Amino acid sequence: MSGPKHARPKGTRDWPPEAAARRRQVERVFRHTAGIFGFEEIITPTFEHAEVFLKSSGEASDIVTKETYTFPDRAGRQLTLRPEGTPGVVRAVLEERLRLPCRLFYYGPYFRYCRPQQGRAREFHQFGVELLGEADPEADAEVIVLGKWFFDDLGVADCAVQLNSIGCRECRPGYRSALVEFLSARRGELCSDCAARLERNPLRVLDCKNESCQLVYAGAPKPAELLCPECREHFVAVRAALERRGLRYALNNRLVRGLDYYNRTTFEYVSGRLGEQNSLGGGGRYDYLFEEFGGPPTPAVGLAIGMERTMLAMPAAPAGPGRRRLAFVIWMTENERAAAGELLDQLRVDGVPAQACFEGRPGRQFKAADAARAACCVIIGPDELARGVVGLKDLATGEQTEIPRNIVTPEVRALFRD
Ligand code: AMP
Repeated sequence: MSGPKHARPKGTRDWPPEAAARRRQVERVFRHTAGIFGFEEIITPTFEHAEVFLKSSGEASDIVTKETYTFPDRAGRQLTLRPEGTPGVVRAVLEERLRLPCRLFYYGPYFRYCRPQQGRAREFHQFGVELLGEADPEADAEVIVLGKWFFDDLGVADCAVQLNSIGCRECRPGYRSALVEFLSARRGELCSDCAARLERNPLRVLDCKNESCQLVYAGAPKPAELLCPECREHFVAVRAALERRGLRYALNNRLVRGLDYYNRTTFEYVSGRLGEQNSLGGGGRYDYLFEEFGGPPTPAVGLAIGMERTMLAMPAAPAGPGRRRLAFVIWMTENERAAAGELLDQLRVDGVPAQACFEGRPGRQFKAADAARAACCVIIGPDELARGVVGLKDLATGEQTEIPRNIVTPEVRALFRD
């Protein structure tokens, strides 16, 4: 086959059926995990007024300054394809007047104009949860534990949790000036991005990946060292709750996260399998965001997990064609076509996915069954028709048996290996 006339846009990908099926499986695990923790789904638009993200993710954040897809619509309104989930959820909770406290989860596509590489795309998907209206440190632990259970369920074996606290409105200004003072004296050693961040968004310098910057920051004051008594108490309680629940974590005193709205707890799930883009997901507390949107003060904590990176960190799919829960009905001559049609519909009525290829001789039908990755073929020829039996061929092993027609459904089901 020659290539298509149009390629997909840079930073996007296709999900052919096998990949789509694997992805849906991951989505099911997420929905299940969120569900058993009491979270309900919320669905919000894929684009919002541009201010929704300017106000929340932060005008100085890298995501908003460099990575959003923002465009005027035909009436001149500035719209932004959502680069992340939380701001839209907060807007929707206020607009829909949802009762608090509440637990919401979301899943869908997100868009960032970034440099595509392994684990970084322009269209990607996130799972997220938001626990709204609870200030208690147990709420932070609940969200962190939920994410870990999700990764454990999927067999992401080397997922480590990193934890930090970045303080609140009371203690952050003091920390910020201590950091700026420390860094200003070493401005010459910083990369150009960090030199610019120093004015706009000094906390972000701490997670710069540049090696020479890292050396400078090794000696810088850390957010958790200058917490006010209330923030320190909260942090101690989050750690105690995690320890009580058997969740292992590592403190990372440079973990500030890329979005401006966090306060107190920040956390990240990292995987050694992923190389440079090693963050599977993360989150934190964001107690001030509702006020930014004109709402009442509302404590909140949430997480976002990247679906594609999760799939990269999962154990590889079993080799060979993944067979589907699908029976392929095959007839040998035109005389059995009607009986085959009845069999097809009987299987479907019984709830067994079943398919046939309406064109061609048996050889072509068998090829179609293989292309469809069916689990088995149900074969009916003149002899089988006369005797009230069918042939049942297991396509994974190649074994064929003969069975009475009236027990086709349970026999086919027994061949489905999930
Ligand atoms: P963030 O919203 O930046 O905290 O990202 C949360 C998670 O979403 C990350 O840990 C990644 O797993 C995923 N993610 C973020 N940006 C991208 C991207 N451009 N491509 C793929 N996954 C991403």
